[in-house]
Amino acid sequence: MGRLVILGGGESGVGTAILGKQKGFEVFVSDKGEIKEKYKEVLEHFEIEWESGDHTEAKILNADVVMKSPGIPDKAPLVKALVAKGIPVISEIEFASKYTDATLIGITGSNGKTTTTMMTYHLLKKGGLNLGMAGNIGDSFAKMVAEKDMDQYVLEISSFQLDGIVDFKPHIAVITNITPDHLDRYEYKFENYIASKFRIAMNQDENDYLIYDADDEVMENWLKKNPVQSKLVPFSVKKKLEEGAWLEDKTIQIKLEHKTLEMSTDILALEGQHNVKNTMAASMAALLVKVRKETIRQSIQSFQGVPHRLEKVLKINHVEYINDSKATNVNATFYALDGIKKPIVWIAGGVDKGNDYAELMPLVREKVKAIICLGMDNTKLKESFGNVIDLMVETYSMEEAVKVAYKVAERGDAVLLSPACASFDLFKNYEDRGDQFKAAIKNL
Ligand code: ADP
Repeated sequence: MGRLVILGGGESGVGTAILGKQKGFEVFVSDKGEIKEKYKEVLEHFEIEWESGDHTEAKILNADVVMKSPGIPDKAPLVKALVAKGIPVISEIEFASKYTDATLIGITGSNGKTTTTMMTYHLLKKGGLNLGMAGNIGDSFAKMVAEKDMDQYVLEISSFQLDGIVDFKPHIAVITNITPDHLDRYEYKFENYIASKFRIAMNQDENDYLIYDADDEVMENWLKKNPVQSKLVPFSVKKKLEEGAWLEDKTIQIKLEHKTLEMSTDILALEGQHNVKNTMAASMAALLVKVRKETIRQSIQSFQGVPHRLEKVLKINHVEYINDSKATNVNATFYALDGIKKPIVWIAGGVDKGNDYAELMPLVREKVKAIICLGMDNTKLKESFGNVIDLMVETYSMEEAVKVAYKVAERGDAVLLSPACASFDLFKNYEDRGDQFKAAIKNL
């Protein structure tokens, strides 16, 4: 079978190692950082050779194929050396998909991947399908294929995973939206990032489907210039469509492959316009794999959402506390501010990824009564909103931020943590930030 070298000993790396070993490859895992104890144990168990703390080039440049974990950029010298030698460098989804005949549903986009993936999984599971969920979420896809292959997979897929595909071909692809993100990995060219997202459809043919947001001009324009083979399945909350999903008087209308489905948005457990869109995408994917309409309708009502995404935490003195820690870019925060129908005390800030706050300005003027900055450097927030918002307070810990919010908020307000920034200045990750928010609220 040849020599499979895996760069990165995390979830996707170790999963690929297990699958590769099972398929008869000589496998070597190399991680420049530390490999977690639990993964080392798995590698030992499967008698897979590994190293951590270094990349020994002699053991890597002799590979027949290399699986690179999505965290390692293409511009890393070792990756460049592999490419220069003509050694294929692929991603986990590419590798794993070679060894399964399952129907694949691939979900990508700048925001809404996890929510849409989990919602789709929920609908299909309720529909009784023999199904796995993998990708950026939970267990690795490769490991699932190795251990207990399923008939169907719902995969959350990042652009980095898509950069490493060759033949990967989902039967149903979803692109939730495309807004500038991760541009540092795409030579600061938005076009490159868009192209990367559309790779999800590059191997699709006329029997496959591409579900996408027709309100997103970036995607509409791209599709005009770069047609795809797949059947296009648009959704919109702004305009009526011939086929796909759209809104009419607060009712979602779906027309797809001679099937129709109507659902009032009142039944959705999740609030916000963006969740109407996520619901449209997930419901259409479910219809396409033949989940019954009634099952979709019922299951949509019971889908409770994902922690750290507009998660309602508590109500104290008629003030609602909402955790949207996963909003690590401006577009995600836009939907939070847009969706909340109350005056907002907004906790924002962190590591700025080149944010342009202009698109938030109308919503901030309309709804935000105070901004509590929570980051090491709040200059950009202060410059953007200092003249618009009377009350701006700088804080340096979650506890302090929540205490200030508690003082400022009045009956009927919402306190929203939706940072629009990454979390690495003050927190381990966005989960840690959200957990600290929830803990601080409970301590009030
Ligand atoms: P991802 O996995 O793409 O990061 P998540 O489902 O984790 O997406 O949501 C990330 C953030 O984006 C959350 O703040 C969430 O409320 C917001 N969001 C969810 N769906 C959408 C959407 N369709 N458009 C814009 N923002 C969204």
